[in-house]
Amino acid sequence: MRRPMADGTIQEVVQNHSSRVGMTPEDLEQSVLEHLFYTCGKDLRSATPLDVYRAISHATRDRLVHRWLQSKRTYFHHEAKRVCYLSAEFLIGRALAQNLLNLGIYHLAETSLDHRGLTLKDILEEELDPGLGNGGLGRLAACFMESLATLQYPAYGYGIRYEFGIFDQEIANGWQVERGDDWLRRGNPWEVPRHELSVGVNFYGRVEARVHVDGTKSMHWVDTQTVIGVPYDTPILGYQNNTVNTLRLWSAKASKEFNFSVFNDGDYRRAVEEKALSESISKVLYPNDESAEGKELRLKQQYFFVACSIADIIRRHKKRFDTLDNLPDQIAIQLNDTHPAIAVAELMRVLIDEESIAWEKAWELTKAATGFTNHTLLPEALEKWPVPMFERLLPRILQIIYEINRRFLLEVHVKWPNDDERKRRLSIIEEGPVKHVRMAHLAVVGSHSVNGVAELHSELVCTQLMPDFHDMWPQRFNNKTNGVTPRRWLLQCNPDLSEALTERISDGWARDLSELTKILEYKDDTEFRAEVRAIKRKNKERLAKVIESRHGFKPNLDSIFDVQVKRLHEYKRQLLNCLHIIALYQDMKENPESDRAPRTFIFGGKAAPGYMMAKLHIKLINDVADIINHDPAIRDRIKVVFLSNYNVSLAEIIIPGADISEQISMAGKEASGTGNMKFAMNGALTVGTLDGANIEIREEVGAENFFLFGLKADEVRGLKGSGYNPNHYIERSPRLRRALDLIASGFFSPDDPSRFQPVVNELRNLDTYMLCADFDDYFRAQFEVDQCYRDPENWTSKVIENLGNIGKFSSDRTIEQYCKEIWNLTPCPIDLTESF
Ligand SMILES: *Cc1c(COP(=O)(O)O)cnc(C)c1O
Repeated sequence: MRRPMADGTIQEVVQNHSSRVGMTPEDLEQSVLEHLFYTCGKDLRSATPLDVYRAISHATRDRLVHRWLQSKRTYFHHEAKRVCYLSAEFLIGRALAQNLLNLGIYHLAETSLDHRGLTLKDILEEELDPGLGNGGLGRLAACFMESLATLQYPAYGYGIRYEFGIFDQEIANGWQVERGDDWLRRGNPWEVPRHELSVGVNFYGRVEARVHVDGTKSMHWVDTQTVIGVPYDTPILGYQNNTVNTLRLWSAKASKEFNFSVFNDGDYRRAVEEKALSESISKVLYPNDESAEGKELRLKQQYFFVACSIADIIRRHKKRFDTLDNLPDQIAIQLNDTHPAIAVAELMRVLIDEESIAWEKAWELTKAATGFTNHTLLPEALEKWPVPMFERLLPRILQIIYEINRRFLLEVHVKWPNDDERKRRLSIIEEGPVKHVRMAHLAVVGSHSVNGVAELHSELVCTQLMPDFHDMWPQRFNNKTNGVTPRRWLLQCNPDLSEALTERISDGWARDLSELTKILEYKDDTEFRAEVRAIKRKNKERLAKVIESRHGFKPNLDSIFDVQVKRLHEYKRQLLNCLHIIALYQDMKENPESDRAPRTFIFGGKAAPGYMMAKLHIKLINDVADIINHDPAIRDRIKVVFLSNYNVSLAEIIIPGADISEQISMAGKEASGTGNMKFAMNGALTVGTLDGANIEIREEVGAENFFLFGLKADEVRGLKGSGYNPNHYIERSPRLRRALDLIASGFFSPDDPSRFQPVVNELRNLDTYMLCADFDDYFRAQFEVDQCYRDPENWTSKVIENLGNIGKFSSDRTIEQYCKEIWNLTPCPIDLTESF
């Protein structure tokens, strides 16, 4: 093969390209000017802020490219084992600031632009936020990718390049309105298409069995419709190292079959329609968080990106090795929830049908390579597909699942003969009028590891969600408590706090967050305490400006900024927060002299477009805000704002400005939560239940530095079991009763007095998430918050205890555990001087 360069070493290419790779201010400036000129076709005089954003992004990307190539070559050369993280969502957020920081040239870029009269902060705002995920699960995948690169582990992220990410949320007259998120409309300087690595994916058709002369049988999936997957690669840079890993997202393109020869107009139109239909696979992210949508297109998306990814994994392996026997020594496949669970069957199909490997061997390889992460205990989130749909769309895959299940149930039979009920519970196929494929069962059967995402959650997976599987393979189950990357969620989003920390304890914390314990030495240092307070105030000011620009009033900076931002869901109980606000309002109206600390309640979060109750909760919050904010008797002692379109960029402004972090899910429902970690890392105190990772956060930061309330998970279970009646609690709590009555009276919705009847009815009759049982204790905890806030020194010492003890919740710690305990991965550092 002819090489483009004399002998093509990376060092050779890079040598004379200081404007592409140089790290001096002059090099960077030259690079930006060149990209303005040659990439954007502009000079500095005619350049718009968008042009400047594009130019500086390309200049930044240039500095990743040789590291990226060198990373790939190093992994290949050293035959390094890599993890392939399969996830239908990657909520990566904006890239420019993160890449500048990880390259170590953020301040350099700031000064370079300054020389030209430009402000980096403003330029950063030109980048559209890629919203390729719904919430915590997708954000976790993004944090993991960053930690993997920082810890120098070889890793590929595999997912879908949705043309439209999570919808843009607008609030019109208090109601959520969804708008399409056309995030690629300004182009995307970070991605590189790799047309040469496109993959064909089959759908529909039928399976033909062929018997060969030697008596062996093989299966052939024929008469299929083929869709092409085109990979788009985004570089993921580690923190101040040379590791650049790849996030490979697949985009659907019609296959050549659609370049039709047509006989008449009707055929032509139909052909064009079918072409458009096949390309719709990667069109849009399904906006449901914590609930499964049983649409055929969703199953198509899942198989599409999984089939592309498995094909890519096998192709790369075969380029290096002439056997697949060592596949599990070379790759670890991790399934981020059940969305990619079909990978178990697809890998089997490839090994058996395409690589002619015997079933037993193929099964051994598949299980050894695959791990599964469960993310939820909500029954409505467990994915299952109707067998008839599955059979039509993926007939060969269904056959393989049936065979996996047949062999699995034999194993069950050997262990528990004559226990048909157990077999029925364990089966991958759910019986019923319409049979369903249970994706979680497929994932557990086909993996060597099954993990939950916080201690409590992992325990509940074993005892409540899948007790039969735990009986069968107890050693397969484990815990990996979630984390978040401190580079984005502290260093980038809170520069002032980062600097104050670095000044005291040096900069090692960004690489090893456990070093934050060193800051505890400064707990009683009055100067440091004052600085912590001043930083919080500055971050509140930044947030207050956003509120002012959107809502027309500036919140009182002396008030407690009390924040609940996360997806809108009944189990997360934004409604409990709202009930507290109403009760507080009533208390204040009744007793105008009561001197409770002023509060600004800040909400944010999207509801799934079809989730009517969650959307009604948004309307209630906004209607309550409208009444209270305009009540002259209240002045600025209570303000309520719902910030629209909560996303990663907005989180980066909101979280550093919070005093209180609301983590108030009904115990046993939030698998982990990661928002809780981000807040504590930024000096907010938590009001929370013993749910998900809240439990471990409280353990780390100390019970006295955490505002605990509410039933525990086993108490919730016990109460449900003995017949929960919300009226029992409503009758005993005058405050709760009054708040409910006020909503029911139409006080907050004079234009439509019965608007919130469904909300009140649910609480009085069912109260699925036990708000009534937890209300009084929540009110008490919030009163304690008030008392504590009046004593700034006491408050600050709790803040510092939180900061100093939050190290566990770095995603670096989580990733180290995955690497050691599930993936068997070792770091593979990148040396830019090494030539291969
Ligand atoms: C961290 C994060 C989440 C997850 O928040 P939880 O409180 O854990 O549900 C959701 N959305 C965005 C944009 C986030 O950054």
